[in-house]
Order: sequence, then structure tokens, then C-alpha cells
Amino acid sequence: MVDVHVHLNEPGRSEWEGFETGTAAAAAGGVTLAVDMPLNSSPVTTTLEALAAKRRAANGKLSMDVGFYSGLVPGSETSVAELIDAGALGIKAFLCHSGIDEFPAATERELRAAMPVLAERDKPLLVHAELVSPAPAMSNPRSYADYLATRPPKFEQDAIAMMIELCRETGCRTHIVHLADAGSLPLIRAARAEGLPLTVETCPHYLYFASETIPDGACQFKCAPPIRDSANRELLWQAFEAGDIDFIASDHSPCPPADKRLDEGRFDLAWGGISSIQLTLPIVWTLAKQRGIGLQRLAQWLSVAPARFIGRSAGIEVGNEANLVAFDTEATFTVHGNELLHRVMSQKFIEQFNSLPLAESNEKLLACCGSKWWSDQMIDARPHGSIDELHTAADDVFDRMPRDAWLEAIGSHPRIGDLESLKMKFAGNRQWSSGEQSGVSAADEQVLMRLKTGNDAYYDKFGYTFVVCATGKSASEMLQILESRLTNEPDAELQTAAAEQREITHLRIDKLAADYDH
Ligand SMILES: [Zn+2]
Repeated sequence: MVDVHVHLNEPGRSEWEGFETGTAAAAAGGVTLAVDMPLNSSPVTTTLEALAAKRRAANGKLSMDVGFYSGLVPGSETSVAELIDAGALGIKAFLCHSGIDEFPAATERELRAAMPVLAERDKPLLVHAELVSPAPAMSNPRSYADYLATRPPKFEQDAIAMMIELCRETGCRTHIVHLADAGSLPLIRAARAEGLPLTVETCPHYLYFASETIPDGACQFKCAPPIRDSANRELLWQAFEAGDIDFIASDHSPCPPADKRLDEGRFDLAWGGISSIQLTLPIVWTLAKQRGIGLQRLAQWLSVAPARFIGRSAGIEVGNEANLVAFDTEATFTVHGNELLHRVMSQKFIEQFNSLPLAESNEKLLACCGSKWWSDQMIDARPHGSIDELHTAADDVFDRMPRDAWLEAIGSHPRIGDLESLKMKFAGNRQWSSGEQSGVSAADEQVLMRLKTGNDAYYDKFGYTFVVCATGKSASEMLQILESRLTNEPDAELQTAAAEQREITHLRIDKLAADYDH
């Protein structure tokens, strides 16, 4: 998947989001290439120095490919050529206040200066298309309907009309980011029918939510342009199906939770932005499937068309990187928030984890690895700065772990296939082990019996339980592993078992973060 509209906010606002967490979340969601916006990093990316600083900040932190746009603000129009030549994939402009003062709106003057330069280089101008004119003020700052009225469809329509004119005049590729208003579609259709190089994206939140169901005070839904009503949403879907909207981008834009003002519920004060990069695929697939839209069109919207937009090919072909996403088209899951890897979510978990009382941290850690020695060392290593650091600390401790502690960790597992021994020493461990061993339940009796016999033989030979990181493995696969490991020498087998224990521990640390209650 290619997501050409994300805000990773580094350097400068890395407490909002960063390259490490943002790209980990993206990769977990199936995104293999994202393009980062020139804000809300600090400095904003409107100069060569800022672009270089961004590249330096990204170095070594990326889980997938990232490209950059630069920004058009009053005064930066003279830098457009050099920024494009330095590798910026396009130029982003706001026609209204961007939310941060150091990225002011571009006026027609800057647009007229920049667009011919972009046209010459065949690079797109990306526009936040809301042109502000008098609108009702909020009488109740907690009311979503009031917030919606402050940013009426007219803002989008006026901005798009203006951009179409400039597009016609300059021949510059013009891209409307996050279209929310379906009423703008006739304008867009006409411009495209005329042959103008106008492209349009929308976001999962406009395709999923509807204003009628947004409760007052629920500032987590605040974004601009705002989420409109369900009739509008239906028209956006129809426009997609008709080919009037080119692709989907997440506009992933996290902020610290306090800035969402959930306590007061004031839409006028809350930061606008929705953070869904990890969920684009499940959200859009869920809805597409309901509408009878197949994977091929989905791939067009999430991959082929956005890749083409930045001059790439997403095809599976000779010379291309094989960036493939596998996902279960039937699986369902509930989003709790804690499984999301972007900065704000993972930081929340780690802060609470660091401050847990001793007994409670011990209990959580022993559920990840049943060695008291390991758990104590992990507690000594607090505070952990991030989930990644927690994983690194786990490995550091493992590297120093004495043989007895390994035996204790391995001995804390129930025997695979032996239902009696599923009664584990650690309650949390038992629950998770039965989840990880779900492959067994589907196995036929004969395989189960052989697993049981092999398991006993293993215990007799090595003196501890057979441990394998069983997630996703079928009973017969486990049996095959068990029977081959039975032939190992004791020293070699302890090392194999320890490696499995490490892998299990990493999975459980991620699960701990995912299940964390806050
Ligand atoms: Zn954005």
C-alpha cells in the first residue's frame, strides 16, 4: 500500500509522532511507502535545510520507504525549484490557516509563482482546499453540528473552483487532498472532462464516519475539512466507484491526547487530525466488501493510483521491489487502541508500564517469560523509553541469562498437546499459551496422540518441557518440529528451546502492550 498523505512530525514535534513509531504503525497496517507532509515537523519543510534536517532525522528509523513533500508558504515560492530538484515529491499548500502559525496559508500570488515551476517539472501541487468566508460562529463549542457549520461545504467548493482555474491557467498538476464535500464533485468532474490534470484523494474517516453519529464533545472526530453527513458519505463512495476520486490516503495526523481536549469536549480548542494509518486497509476493505467492491479496485485506490501520483509503479514486475501485503479477507477484530503502534498509543502504554508497582510489573513480565531472574532484571532496567526499547532490553537480559533461569522460563510452559498440564503456574501465561497453541484443537486424534508421546519422550530426554513458538503452526507442523528436535544433543537443544523462548517473549510483550488497559 502507498499512502501519500501522512504527518510524521519529526524533527521538532516528535512527541506527537515520529519516524520510528509512525512507520512501524504504517508497516503493521500494510503500508510499504508513505509520503510525509511538510508540517507538523519543526522546522516546517519549506527550505533545503529543513528538507535535509528531515532526511537526517529519518535516518535509521524507518520500517518502510518514506518520501517527502515540501511546503509553499508566503516567501517560499522562490525555493520551489530547488526543493523539487533536491527530491521533494510535490509541494503542499494550505488555502486556510494550517493549524500551526509557522505554516501560513498560500495566497494566489504564491500559487501563481509556484505552479508554472511545478508544471515544468511535472510535479504536483497538493492543496488543502478550504477557502474561508463568513460562516456561523459556534454557539455551543461542544456541539459537533456547530463545529460542522463553521466549515461549510462552500469553503471546499470555493477553494476547488479557484484551484481549477489556476490549474487551467498554469497546466500544473493539481491535487485536492482529503476531499470531504461531495458537493464539489460536479466541479471536479467537469474539470477532468476538460482534460485538466486534476487529481483527488479522500480519507478513510470520510468514508467511514458520518456527522449524525458523532456525539457532542467527541473531539477525537475533529478534523478539517470536517466529517460530513451520511448522504454526503454515500456520494463520496459513488464518486469512487465512478472513478471521480483517484485514491485513498490516511492523512494520519496524531497529537498528544491532551490536545484533543476530551475532558472539556470543546471542538473550538481541540487539535484537528485523525490517526488511522494502521487501519486504512481493514476500514476500507470492510466497507468495500459491503458494497461488493473487489480487491482489484481496492488495490487501485490504495496502491496503484497513489504510486502513480508520485511517479512510481506499484506493479509486481521485473525491476520493482516486491512490496506485498498479505491479509485475511475474512478475519474480524475490534480496535481497542492499544494495539496501534503510532507514538501516542505506544507512549501511553510504556509510561504506565514504567510506573507500575513491583508486584504488578513482576506479574506482567512473568506472563511474557516465566523466569523470575529475567523479570527482576527487566524491572531494574526501567524506565524503558518505548516498546522498541522494551524489546531491546528483553534481548539484553536474555544475553546475560544463566542456565538455571532459562530452565525456569522454559519449565513454566504447559506441555503442548497435554491438556492436563495446561494448568500453568502463571495464570496469565496459561491463558496466552492456550491462544498460541490453538493449532492443536483442530488436529486429528492421531497427531495429538503422537504429540503427547513425543512430548513425554522429549521430557524424559531433556528434563524440561518442549517449547515452540507455536503461533500460526498446525499440530502436524508442531509434531514435525518436535520429532526433529528429539534427535538433538542436550546442549544444542537447550539453545534451540531458548531461542524459541525469546521469540515467544517478544510476541507476548507486543500482546501485553496491545491488551493494556488504560
Ligand atoms: Zn494532512
